[in-house]
Amino acid sequence: MGKSELQGIIAGGGLVGLTAALALHQKGISVKVFESVPEIKPLGVGINLLPHSVQNLAKLGLLKDLEKVAIKTSSLAYYTEDGKAIWREPRGLDAGYDVPQLSIHRGDFHMILLATAEERLGPENIIRNHHFSGFDQDESSVTAHFVDRTNGDPKTSITGDFLIGADGINSSLRRLFYPDEGPPKYSGQMLWRGVTEMDPYLDGRSMFMAGHNDLKLVAYPIREESHKRGKSYINWIAERRIPSDLAERQADWNEEGLLDEFKSDFADWDLGWLDMDRLFEEAISIHKFPMVDRDPLPKWSFGRVTLMGDAAHAMYPNGSNGVSQGVLDAMTFADILCETNDIPSAIEEYEKTRREVTQKIILANRQTGPERVMQMVKEQCPGTCGEEHSCVPKDVLENVALSYKKLAGFDKQGLAASK
Ligand SMILES: Cc1cc2nc3c(=O)[nH]c(=O)nc-3n(C[C@H](O)[C@H](O)[C@H](O)COP(=O)(O)OP(=O)(O)OC[C@H]3O[C@@H](n4cnc5c(N)ncnc54)[C@H](O)[C@@H]3O)c2cc1C
Repeated sequence: MGKSELQGIIAGGGLVGLTAALALHQKGISVKVFESVPEIKPLGVGINLLPHSVQNLAKLGLLKDLEKVAIKTSSLAYYTEDGKAIWREPRGLDAGYDVPQLSIHRGDFHMILLATAEERLGPENIIRNHHFSGFDQDESSVTAHFVDRTNGDPKTSITGDFLIGADGINSSLRRLFYPDEGPPKYSGQMLWRGVTEMDPYLDGRSMFMAGHNDLKLVAYPIREESHKRGKSYINWIAERRIPSDLAERQADWNEEGLLDEFKSDFADWDLGWLDMDRLFEEAISIHKFPMVDRDPLPKWSFGRVTLMGDAAHAMYPNGSNGVSQGVLDAMTFADILCETNDIPSAIEEYEKTRREVTQKIILANRQTGPERVMQMVKEQCPGTCGEEHSCVPKDVLENVALSYKKLAGFDKQGLAASK
């Protein structure tokens, strides 16, 4: 069978579903994407595309479009709440990578993927208002069933050669495989995610994290257009431990957050170079989202059917790595599938390549990933450090940063070798 005769079905037209569609299309494999919502809108706030995913998105011809809208992140730094630096490192081009690290509005990224997918695959292959509900498979094909998600009425069934569930953290396909799994697991941390346009801090391209495990602030600018006007469109996340709340709560990306719920916790903070009152009070939007993930799965794939992106490995945002891992899934899947006509074996191979590493990242992120340097300083600092913290030796900090990069696949040497 020629590649052009293969027909793939993707449930979920989010970031990873559309990336997979583009990757498969590039290999000459036909694919249809079925998205649950009737209209695909530019939702969410900031996300990071680390160099390994940018390298792959460049292979899909998306780099120019992404660079037009996103910020090329220059550095990442960790601070304590009094503005003293713990660790600073250059990022992306500034760190000598061939490609940038991009901080981008999720909606901007989504719209680039959507426009490109519609242009390349044809709009008739990105089908809205079709909620994946079930599948049947036999030796030679798989049939996926879709319903109207508002009333459950059947809409269509389509037969193809393989089915990918890229339907996000509340994946319907994952629930079919693991019906007893229940809702995502709450970490005990609540996130208030906002965006504010204001004067730039530091060089206008820097990402920072400050605080410790109980109270943290993360921020990074995400829009080049704002930067060009001398402003900064800043994505920020205020994170506070709320252990007893919401064990059973649904993770809803669209839930509104209120200033009163967190602002006073930061009243004593003084970073020096950032006006935190303005950051919080002049927010264009604030959303509230429990930090949740899902346990690693023992198996993603059953015959011609598999999981991808958050459906396969929803992880805490520590390490800013979630969507990048989904992009790697998509590219790996397409690379493997185009080498063989044996689809179940290709799917097994895809899972073998991706499941174990993402499992390790889920677990590392539960230990706060590379951000644990902040808690190390919280626990170890005797209070006598000067402008910069020296309480944790530099080589220990460096090792935390490097070992996470290696695990996630974006250390400079490893990435250069994988080109
Ligand atoms: C509305 C929204 C806002 C988000 N905002 C942020 C953010 O601000 N910051 C951040 O870090 N991450 C955000 N995320 C999550 C982020 O997009 C993912 O963590 C990451 O990009 C992995 O992408 P994904 O494609 O696996 O999942 P998602 O991007 O979540 O995409 C999953 C897609 O599947 C669709 N879907 C769900 N169920 C079905 C079904 N049964 N049949 C068909 N389609 C289905 C969903 O509508 C969605 O479009 C958001 C996700 C959503 C859906």
